[in-house]
Amino acid sequence: MVDTTSTKKPRIGVFVCHCGTNIAGSIDVKGLVEYAKTVPNVAFAQDYQYVCSTPGQKIITDAIEKEKLTGTVVAACSPRLHEPTFRTATKEGGLNQFRFEMANIREQGSWVHMHDRDAATDKAKDAVRIAVAKAALLQDLEPKAVPVEKAALVVGAGIAGMQAALDLANAGIKTYLVEKNPSIGGRMSQLDKTFPTLDCSQCILTPKMVDVGRAPNIELMTYSEIDAVEGYIGNFDVTIRKKARGVLSMAEAEAKGISGGGCNGCGDCEPVCPVIKPNPFEEGMKPRKAIYIYHPQVVPLLYTVDFDSCIKCNLCVTVCGDKKAIDLEMKDELIKVKVGTVILAIGFDIFPVENKREWGYKQFENVVTSLEFERLICASGPTGGHLIRPSDGKEPKRIGFVLCAGSRDNTGIGKPYCSRFCCMYSLKHAHQIIEKMPGAIPYIFYMDIRSFGKMYEEFYYRIQDEGAKFIRGRVANILEDPVTKNLHVYAEDTMLQRPMDMEMDLVVLAAAVQPAALTDKTRKLFGVSCSLDGWLLEAHPKLNPCGTTTAGVFLAGVCQGPKDIPDAVAQAEGAASAASIPIHRGEVELEPFFAQCIEEKCAGCGMCINLCPYQALSLVDKEAGKKVMQVTEAKCKGCGTCGAFCPGGAIWMQHFSTPQIVAQIDAFLLGGVK
Ligand code: SF4
Ligand code: SF4
Ligand code: SF4
Ligand code: SF4
Ligand code: SF4
Ligand code: SF4
Repeated sequence: MVDTTSTKKPRIGVFVCHCGTNIAGSIDVKGLVEYAKTVPNVAFAQDYQYVCSTPGQKIITDAIEKEKLTGTVVAACSPRLHEPTFRTATKEGGLNQFRFEMANIREQGSWVHMHDRDAATDKAKDAVRIAVAKAALLQDLEPKAVPVEKAALVVGAGIAGMQAALDLANAGIKTYLVEKNPSIGGRMSQLDKTFPTLDCSQCILTPKMVDVGRAPNIELMTYSEIDAVEGYIGNFDVTIRKKARGVLSMAEAEAKGISGGGCNGCGDCEPVCPVIKPNPFEEGMKPRKAIYIYHPQVVPLLYTVDFDSCIKCNLCVTVCGDKKAIDLEMKDELIKVKVGTVILAIGFDIFPVENKREWGYKQFENVVTSLEFERLICASGPTGGHLIRPSDGKEPKRIGFVLCAGSRDNTGIGKPYCSRFCCMYSLKHAHQIIEKMPGAIPYIFYMDIRSFGKMYEEFYYRIQDEGAKFIRGRVANILEDPVTKNLHVYAEDTMLQRPMDMEMDLVVLAAAVQPAALTDKTRKLFGVSCSLDGWLLEAHPKLNPCGTTTAGVFLAGVCQGPKDIPDAVAQAEGAASAASIPIHRGEVELEPFFAQCIEEKCAGCGMCINLCPYQALSLVDKEAGKKVMQVTEAKCKGCGTCGAFCPGGAIWMQHFSTPQIVAQIDAFLLGGVK
């Protein structure tokens, strides 16, 4: 092990990366190396084409030994990408891994100043000098190992959440699966068929739902939401709100001593209930009672009371009789669980396409969304699978599909991104019309058809061959004939280069998808970021698409961004695998960037306690009645709030200490550019 005692004069090695032409194209790398050699405390400087490559890392490990370095600086890309790589190289060279500092001269240098080589090089010199100033003061630190709870939490039980929960459970991990709706299954349970295979959605979904319901390692919590989260990877304390469902399961009845009682799903209560509401599962196109079953294939098979509309007439209680399943006084319950890792699979919502007034949704009866179309064409839907016009119940013959309805829209009303699966499901809808309704013609108004997946392009050709009509052009507006209730679709056919007015009996809007309403609350609870468009943000779009910047929290499904069923399932499997690793390993290492209390300086005023966002601080008794602050390292996220606040300077931030930061500021302000 190389001697790294603080009394020894620092000897820093600087390694400058070309990154091909990514950096070298805009920065004078050779000049930067020569400059680095003149910076105080630099004992060695060298450039290399790709420092993260195996030979690049070997240059670092060799130089540490040969040049007796006490610290390393790599001037390259963002630390988000390769900090762990270079920490490992530093360790392999014989230094403590935290004797490493990174200067970002790519994302914050060459890429943003590519048209001004001199300015980019000067900025890179500043970055290197600042990094060296800190590296000279770095200390040996050791990661903290904490045990990992052998349980996982999956939030959201659509197809992604179910797949993740099943994978975790099959790997022998106790898994809590929390779903806000009364049943698992998510959006997929609303679909009729899936593209491009045209499988019946329920037929492939129901076996998975049943597996989830039966899995001994899965504790299913439907009609429940996350209320509070504390802790960190390996030790998340999660409070789950089990909403009052008003109906006891058989197991719950048994636990309450109601022998042979509990809901058996007989459905006798529903007809007697006098309250009628629109059914959200049927997109409001069918009524629902105040006591209801979410959909026919629910898991678990349990009725639910909608307490927002129930008038407590007691008729259902009477009909239920000896089963005593209905409890109209039931209250929400808070359940606390401890888990090691978490997967968020909270799905998506449909963009309120009525905001795009020009297409007439919610103004004209015969303009529907694709999800409404799914329910209309589905055998278990409000019309028994018979596609009719909402205005008069007649079968439509000319059906227009408006693609990108609210997607790829930079007007500020819609969404700028592509929703990724609406081209394909619209092709599927066209096929369903041709198959089910002889003589009916689907007209597809599109900008581009995005058929990127396996067998998708072939499916597109098939629908063309089947007779669907494709009009390439964005629909400007839709107007209704007040007498016939037919719709005039105004668009420009960009192939023929002429405006069009086409009369349709029914128009289907392929509405954009958007982050679910609970996304913001959920991301705040779990400390996860979101991208500019509101989707939950992955740790790295290419190298870590399932992880987040919060250790131990992973993403699955559309909550991370629009994706179709195969991609959602694949990501769920990836997330389950990633979430199971720390659990199987049994412990995780936390970066040791904790606050440390200097007891001699601490006055025990306690003012920092409430400032800590992670409840990591508490006062403890010291000798002679003196109280001092104590940091629970496993809870501390190293945010620095307490360190910046403490009036007595009693908090020392490891790896971000005041002398290190002051040295960086001095290096910037006083160092000058040679
Ligand atoms: Fe590119 Fe970073 Fe690798 Fe250098 S270390 S080659 S900047 S990715
Ligand atoms: Fe039947 Fe009672 Fe369940 Fe209603 S609550 S479905 S009546 S067992
Ligand atoms: Fe419906 Fe509520 Fe009356 Fe039961 S008590 S029948 S749920 S209104
Ligand atoms: Fe438009 Fe197709 Fe993208 Fe959907 S998938 S937004 S319809 S291009
Ligand atoms: Fe007060 Fe500072 Fe001690 Fe906190 S660390 S109790 S703010 S003296
Ligand atoms: Fe709490 Fe201080 Fe740690 Fe921040 S640095 S998490 S305020 S103890």
